Amino acid sequence: MNISQLLQRSAQVFGDRPAVLTGARLLHDYRTLAARVAALAGHLRAQCGVRPGERVAIFSANCPEYLEALHAIHWCGAVSVPVNYKLHARELAHVLADSSARVVCVSAALRTDALAAGAGAGRLLVLGDAAWQSAAQGRPLAIEERTPDDVVSLFYTSGTTGRPKGVMQTQRNLLAMTMAYFTDVDDVHPDDAMAYAAPMSHGAGLYNYAHMLRGARHVVPESGGFDAAELVRLARDVGRLSLFAAPTMVHRLVEHVRATGGDGSGFKTIVYGGGPMYVDDLRRAIATMGQKFVQIYGQGECPMTITALAREHLMDTAHPRWAQRIASVGVAHACVQVRVADAQDRPVPTGELGEVLVRGDTVMSGYWNNPEATAQTLRGGWLHTGDVGSLDEHGFLTLRDRSKDVIISGGSNIYPREVEEVLLLHPRVREVAVVGQRDADWGEVVVAFLVAEGSEVADAELDALCLDHIARFKRPKAYRWVPALPKNAYGKVLKTELRGWL
Ligand code: AMP
Repeated sequence: MNISQLLQRSAQVFGDRPAVLTGARLLHDYRTLAARVAALAGHLRAQCGVRPGERVAIFSANCPEYLEALHAIHWCGAVSVPVNYKLHARELAHVLADSSARVVCVSAALRTDALAAGAGAGRLLVLGDAAWQSAAQGRPLAIEERTPDDVVSLFYTSGTTGRPKGVMQTQRNLLAMTMAYFTDVDDVHPDDAMAYAAPMSHGAGLYNYAHMLRGARHVVPESGGFDAAELVRLARDVGRLSLFAAPTMVHRLVEHVRATGGDGSGFKTIVYGGGPMYVDDLRRAIATMGQKFVQIYGQGECPMTITALAREHLMDTAHPRWAQRIASVGVAHACVQVRVADAQDRPVPTGELGEVLVRGDTVMSGYWNNPEATAQTLRGGWLHTGDVGSLDEHGFLTLRDRSKDVIISGGSNIYPREVEEVLLLHPRVREVAVVGQRDADWGEVVVAFLVAEGSEVADAELDALCLDHIARFKRPKAYRWVPALPKNAYGKVLKTELRGWL
């Protein structure tokens, strides 16, 4: 099998259906897209000498050629290494060296960065330039046969701590993940459109496969990223638009729609995940745009497929557990088993907190060139996610925090997210991140970093809000107002850096 057979199949079945759009403008139908991919694969093989199993990196913001590069790499049997385009040249250098990428497909705008990272001009293919266009018309390569256990992609973990490790995703992983979209997230119709607003190097790009399989449209915004006004326009012009968005993007989209008096028309499904969605934001999102939301919880090591909170659960407002359910990340995807375990990997009783473990066809085969980290993370045949959560009797998983983010104060565990949820209830708190600060008496004390919406709020007012909602010992001992929270390239708050500030 080869995951790009999904594209090959759609080119046969839906040859003249629209495949790739830039903004609302059609670029290629499925037949043309597959022909270009086969020719680019031929170029990678004949001109660049790429053999099956060798690595080819992609370093670019979202653009239509991203899909061509990705599938051409798969088509010739090579391993794609999608690199976040916001990485520093030094970080890129680490990825290129660690993966020993033979070729780097780079956007024209990032060519200098790639050279600075030591890519070497001879290894670069520039997406969409004249040479690219002529390669896309060249001699096609027959799709390369691979086995389900062959690695198809190396995904470098976003790394809020330590050096990024290359997660080996196999052909089986990506095929199972694609099927899981239909069982647990959404059905896809050929008239649907997937908009790539979040980075294609991450989760959003992984949703291309399900949409390839169904012959749906792939819409790459002209901005190459997330712009709320542009998305609303695209939803109107293209219609049946689905997207994957981080919770911060959902928040910004919803605020834009509210401010402009719009609704959710033109949008089909908004899949959110990648970080915690605060309940208040979710309620606002549903009230503004309707029941279009589905949540997924995953990580590079089990791409997009640990749990899902389906539309029907979010819609079931009459259910007695609805309030708890919308604060959860949903139930195990059909392709995996999920359990919550103690430090000895023994399952804990229902309702108790422990580390989230996962087993199944979407779990990575290991970390590239790192047998120690692989053995540690996959011990006992289960993926150790490093996330802390609890399962209820109906199988709904509620996440607390990353195990390393838990604050232990006076012997009690405090989960920062619980405190953050409360502080966000204040209309003048735009963003918040709660961390622990070392303390001689308590071991650690709770400190909140806040970004104001307008003017700052008095400590006493925030204290009163906390005392209204959570136990006294969870209340922050200090509130620090900052202009912005430090975030990594994927928009995740860097708690390690915040702890460093203290
Ligand atoms: P990455 O491997 O960069 O995709 O990061 C994965 C991590 O993001 C997970 O281990 C979780 O800590 C977090 N995460 C992903 N999805 C969710 C979600 N729906 N809710 C809360 N945290 C999430």
